[in-house]
Amino acid sequence: NQADIGVIGMAVMGKNLALNIESHGYTVSVFNRTSAKTKSFVENHEDKNLVPSFKLTDFVNSLKAPRKIIIMIKAGKPVDNILNQLASLLDKGDVIIDGGNANFHDTIRRSANLTKDGIYFLGMGVSGGEQGALHGPSLMPGGQEKAYEMVKPILTKIAAKAHDGTPCVTYVGPNGAGHYVKMIHNGIEYGDEELIDETYNLLRNIVGFNVDQLSKIFAKWNQGELDSYLIKITADILSRKDDLSSDQSVPIVDMILDEGENKGTGRWSSEDAMAIGAPQSLITESVFARFISMMKNQRMHAAQVLPGPEKKDQVKPDKDVVEEACQALYFGKIMSYAQGFVQLEMASKTYKWHLKYGKLAQIWRAGCIIRAKFLQKITDAFAKKPNLQNLLMDSYFAGIAKKYQKSARKIVALATLDGIPVPCLSAAVSYYDSFRAKVLPANLLQAQRDYFGAHTYHRIDRPGTFHYTWYKEE
Ligand code: NDP
Repeated sequence: NQADIGVIGMAVMGKNLALNIESHGYTVSVFNRTSAKTKSFVENHEDKNLVPSFKLTDFVNSLKAPRKIIIMIKAGKPVDNILNQLASLLDKGDVIIDGGNANFHDTIRRSANLTKDGIYFLGMGVSGGEQGALHGPSLMPGGQEKAYEMVKPILTKIAAKAHDGTPCVTYVGPNGAGHYVKMIHNGIEYGDEELIDETYNLLRNIVGFNVDQLSKIFAKWNQGELDSYLIKITADILSRKDDLSSDQSVPIVDMILDEGENKGTGRWSSEDAMAIGAPQSLITESVFARFISMMKNQRMHAAQVLPGPEKKDQVKPDKDVVEEACQALYFGKIMSYAQGFVQLEMASKTYKWHLKYGKLAQIWRAGCIIRAKFLQKITDAFAKKPNLQNLLMDSYFAGIAKKYQKSARKIVALATLDGIPVPCLSAAVSYYDSFRAKVLPANLLQAQRDYFGAHTYHRIDRPGTFHYTWYKEE
């Protein structure tokens, strides 16, 4: 028994996580269903303290007690299979960490099952892609706090470090809390991407910027409030030329099919928002935007038969359109994160997780895909008020919303009049207007419900439940 920790799954994430852990002075046992991958991985890193195993029993026996095992395999059924096998091989007090993108419902179920055998289980969100896994990811572990304490020294070392040196890892909460937070992280990531993509699309198709110009615009935005990984890679992507066509001047984006795929985490965020009653229009619209993009054939046909606005009805952008688009994008981002954190708060109550929102913003500042300067502002907001109900109630975010709303409205109006879809930017403006509305037309809605279904209504002037006599029974 020599290894400090084991990693199961020798695809990109597992390999890089193993190397990251090893680089901090640990001996790491590695195992993969297909032995050849374990073999070639270890052969390619002969100088590292890696212990290969080709049978799960050998892998388990190679670990120091209490054993610590990170699973980095395809989410879903494969994880249940491995857990079943491990349960019969492990001892009480051993810790299994599922670092894949598990659905949090699965994590809650798995945690309960393994608890019966006295095995600790952490469901840990890992963000940052393969580079993050290797050089420092953002880690979102949930499960028994005692189990977290057992692996904390390792996780703290391998996690990304924020600009102030704080490791991007914290104990998130019990059972499925870590995977839930990772799910929301991914949902927010969908929203960020869609907001950027909409802005690119309207600047390109309404204003007429070419791809090189857009690359420079995004690069400039990355110097300011929007400074973030996703804006940075967007600038980079837009500067790249196609490597397969003979014409080396064709931007690679123009050769990529416009069908946006997904692996489910964004959809799960929306599904749970529905389940717990969280207003989550932004992530949801970003998921729908991917779905409609997948209907390429239908869109190609519709483009022939469904006209957009007539030329004479289209509006010319202002000379300040780039600045307005930048502000609209930041405004959209604020609405998205406001919704995301409200969902986290509602989930925390529903599932009894006692999430610490400020800590979550803190561990998203580096390592992960949504890392951004902006997350420091969220960290600061929760530091001032740990139970802040909505980011829009913080003076910084309220101030920005007040200042940028005009640009957001103008950009949404411009896009709409010119026939360019902006589902997330318009959802952002609608959310802002709904959230700040003293009166919403839900009064009429309640009347409709009472009219056709006798669902009753509440009054503004007295307590109780009322039913209006809409019609006399014959
Ligand atoms: P994949 O999701 O592509 O999964 C491949 C790995 O899963 C291989 O090791 C494969 O083994 C193993 N596997 C598949 N089916 C089974 C099975 N039935 N039994 C045992 N092992 C199985 O790998 P990634 O490295 O991309 O991701 C690992 C996890 O991390 C996933 O949950 C993913 O969602 C998550 N993740 C991925 C990120 C990324 O950027 N790729 C970022 C953050 C999280 P074999 O070689 O034998 O086929």
